[in-house]
Amino acid sequence: MIAKNAAKIKNLIQENYNKFVDAIDFTISQCQCKSIGQFVIHGYYDRKIRTNGWLVILLVIQRMKCKSCGKTHAVLPTSIVPYSQILLTDMIGMIISHEEKTSYKINKDSHLTRKDVKYVIKQYLRHWRDRILAIASGSIIEFLRSSDLTRQVHCAYNTAFMQVKRCSYLLSY
Ligand SMILES: [Zn+2]
Repeated sequence: MIAKNAAKIKNLIQENYNKFVDAIDFTISQCQCKSIGQFVIHGYYDRKIRTNGWLVILLVIQRMKCKSCGKTHAVLPTSIVPYSQILLTDMIGMIISHEEKTSYKINKDSHLTRKDVKYVIKQYLRHWRDRILAIASGSIIEFLRSSDLTRQVHCAYNTAFMQVKRCSYLLSY
């Protein structure tokens, strides 16, 4: 995974995703094998994202391959959790509701279900809560709301917050 903070992506549509990818300078991107500027385009795949509303986002995600080590990496904005159909902001909303002992609000026409919420919370408790507690300086809710969450999780664990499946995660800023 090659991830980049993309606070500027307002609407996650293909056109904006393409602009986001175009803005990444792969000639200075470093692979986990330490090689720099060795990435070449290695195809595309479809990703479906279900939001807490009427919108279902369909994106064609670009994949890069490192010529040096042969590993492939998907290019994702940090708002997308690797391998998940649920956006990071929605997951964080569910987790904060859980921490605050309130019920997560599923909007009218939502493409998310109670089952999704249950699944996200289960994954959070199983894989992430202790790790977050270990690096949160203030309260856990404050930390979850912080704009620095993605970076701090990456620094500590070399992965994306709420990522469950193992894969390399290269975050650039
Ligand atoms: Zn490499």
